[in-house]
Amino acid sequence: MKFKQLLSGLLMMLMLSQATAQSDYFFPEGSRFDPKIPTPEEYLGYPVGTLHTRHDAIVGYMKELASKSERAKFEIIGETYEHRKLVVLTVSAPKNIENLESIRKDHLQLVDPDKHIGDYADHKSVVLLGYNVHGNEPSSSEAALLAAYYYVAGLHNEVTTALDEAVIMIDPNFNPDGRDRHSTWANAYKANPLVSDPTDAEHNEMWPGGRTNHYWYDLNRDWLPLAHVESQARIDFYHKWYPNVVTDFHEMGTNSTYFFEPTKPFGSENPVVPRDNYDGLNNLFAGYFHEALDEIGSLYFTKESYDNSYPGYGSTYPDIHGALGLVFEQASSRGHLQDSRMGKVAFAFTIKNHLTSSMATVRAAVAEKNTLLAHMENYFESAKSEGAQAGGGWVFGDPSDNGRNEAFLDLLLRHKIKTLALNEDISLGDKNFKAGSAFYVPNAQKQYRMVRTMFEKVTTFYDSIFYDASAWTAALSYNMPYERYAGKNQLNGVELQRDDLKGSYESVGKSEYAYLIEWDEYFAPKALNYLLEKGLYVNSAFKPFSIETPKGVQEFGYGTLMIPVRRQEVSSELVRAYVDEATELAGIMAYPVTTGYSTSGIDLGSGNFQTIRKPKVLMLIGPGTSSYEAGEVWHLLDSKVGMPITKVWTDNVGRINWSDYNTLILPSGYYSSLGENTIDRIKQWVRDGGTMITLRNATSWAISSKFVNGKFADRPQRETPERMDYVTSRDFYGSNAIGGSMYMTDVDITHPLAFGYTSRELPVYRNHSIFMAPSSSPFNTVVKYADNPLLSGYVNKENLAALGGTASLITSGMGRGNVILFADNPNFRGMWYGTNKLFLNAIFLGNMAR
Ligand SMILES: [Zn+2]
Repeated sequence: MKFKQLLSGLLMMLMLSQATAQSDYFFPEGSRFDPKIPTPEEYLGYPVGTLHTRHDAIVGYMKELASKSERAKFEIIGETYEHRKLVVLTVSAPKNIENLESIRKDHLQLVDPDKHIGDYADHKSVVLLGYNVHGNEPSSSEAALLAAYYYVAGLHNEVTTALDEAVIMIDPNFNPDGRDRHSTWANAYKANPLVSDPTDAEHNEMWPGGRTNHYWYDLNRDWLPLAHVESQARIDFYHKWYPNVVTDFHEMGTNSTYFFEPTKPFGSENPVVPRDNYDGLNNLFAGYFHEALDEIGSLYFTKESYDNSYPGYGSTYPDIHGALGLVFEQASSRGHLQDSRMGKVAFAFTIKNHLTSSMATVRAAVAEKNTLLAHMENYFESAKSEGAQAGGGWVFGDPSDNGRNEAFLDLLLRHKIKTLALNEDISLGDKNFKAGSAFYVPNAQKQYRMVRTMFEKVTTFYDSIFYDASAWTAALSYNMPYERYAGKNQLNGVELQRDDLKGSYESVGKSEYAYLIEWDEYFAPKALNYLLEKGLYVNSAFKPFSIETPKGVQEFGYGTLMIPVRRQEVSSELVRAYVDEATELAGIMAYPVTTGYSTSGIDLGSGNFQTIRKPKVLMLIGPGTSSYEAGEVWHLLDSKVGMPITKVWTDNVGRINWSDYNTLILPSGYYSSLGENTIDRIKQWVRDGGTMITLRNATSWAISSKFVNGKFADRPQRETPERMDYVTSRDFYGSNAIGGSMYMTDVDITHPLAFGYTSRELPVYRNHSIFMAPSSSPFNTVVKYADNPLLSGYVNKENLAALGGTASLITSGMGRGNVILFADNPNFRGMWYGTNKLFLNAIFLGNMAR
């Protein structure tokens, strides 16, 4: 008995000393904590840093803290595709938590350019500590657990002062689906004793890795496009609060050290962000970071790299909203312990560095409260006055495509950009905008700098090294007809809200003859897919025509869908019902017609209508293929079309029954590993009538492996001096790369792959150096680069000269089948609504495109 008591006493002391050891390791000397608040270790059952914590446990701990403390409020702000909760734990002094709503309302006065406060004594510094946008950079969510504990349980002066002066919002995990994918892997391969050998499976996760979300998108590129539910929820929360400081924690290569801002001056900075963000705030905060990291003996670097220009980054978006966005990078242990060139990197060590930066961020946000709040207030005041000085604004809208207009409007409204529906027609330049499909974004508004981000083209740069994109003009990616309005008078219209976006669906009247659906609607493929799923025969118009409809004589363009009633295998009632359901689903309208006799152009029984084959789509994925491009295809077909596709790993190709499919998609990848037998099998399948669609590097592969008759265009010639200083090599090679820019092309709108386009001008996105020659057949170059095609972004003059006149999209017949080669990625980042139709045409009409 006595022995047992002694043992349990010893055990208790051991546990206590472990808990203290954890606190001593992670937290600054002199920290004191409320014993009633459970430490992360007590809640999880293991010390932080010894396992990768699952998202549900992270959420559970945040909830636990809120239930145990009056300093914390737990909130669910959304959920992921896999139904993991997106949560925020708000921590502040109890009296602030009680009055959170009035603190928020006071805070929003800083954002209102028509109010000036100047005295911030009654205001709080609002800090958003955001973590783990890249799921396989896991140290930061563990740091979030410790940061939450530190501010909820801390009793010492630093914490209590911070809680009086600041509202600290902890978003512990920006990307729960990706994080759990990686955490499961790292935990499953964790050994005892730990294996630090970088070659071990624990340190080399399976394709596609946990960096990305459910659809394999990089959420740290999605703050601008908002293609995903995670980003949409986050941006709603963001605009509810407009935080003053936002952190974005990452991991980099194991052999590196630690990085905090400032990023590389000028070249990596966003052109619309006021200089005092970079010259003032960044340097001010850097002082706090280096002091904290010096204190714990951590090596770091600043100013040399990391891009801060693209507005879709979590550390850049806040800079365009009067806040200070901060990127941090920690050398990764990727796993629990890994060898590096300077000894072993332990998971706990990586966590400690991010925790240290988290605490330094709050320290700085509290000490520099007045500076931050003044910065935000000046930011929005100067934004509106600069916008007023610029005058006018931007008019846009496509009369032929309500779906794409509304998608673009939705984006603007989610970003809180004031937008009006115009009451009257207006002509600007060579464009005519019609009331009903004409919209106006005035420059004189607090979001003026986001307006510039959406509409301005940028072609001059500080330097020529780009980590990612050098162009992000959203209006171009949506292929939105738009013009600068520079008139003196404000244009009249009704300010839009997101609720006003309702699609153009109207219940369709019954026809005993045929229904027509316009193909120039962005969501028409969704309706078509539904009709094909229901087993209806649907035809595509290869020539335009005009015909009498209940709305009078209407013109119908290339690709118009024609659904005859009597030729179907179901009753005319059912045909009407299916057409009605399809158009309701797609938010578009159908026209019932009672005659096949056109007033001009082809009649409905013409041979120029071709029956559409129901696509049965297979996509190769897995190691060696681009998970980004595959994910973009998957997401497009799921969310914009509603079409199931079969995804097959390249090492399972042997199991494919090729006759079950008629369409094959190859995202960028290295397909030589498929082996000659498989490649021959695919060629035979194409000859038998299959449609093969290749993207970027897969196009390159298809050309070099003589899959098709396509050719590469001449590569740009660049003179390399005989000898240069070693230190300049990175800049020299960097300036030759084509880093994400936008170009004008000419589209053959009479070609089935371009059906639905009403203008020959189409912007495309390019971030590669594949130069594809036009087809040797005069009718097969569907999309071709214009001469001098640069619209927005950086490219050197040699590349630009070589690019003009090359092909962006060609098609090449092979037996009864067809290979469709995209040099560019038409689905880039879920933001290229303008070029998505080319890709969907390839799927639905690809077999006719010969
Ligand atoms: Zn990262």
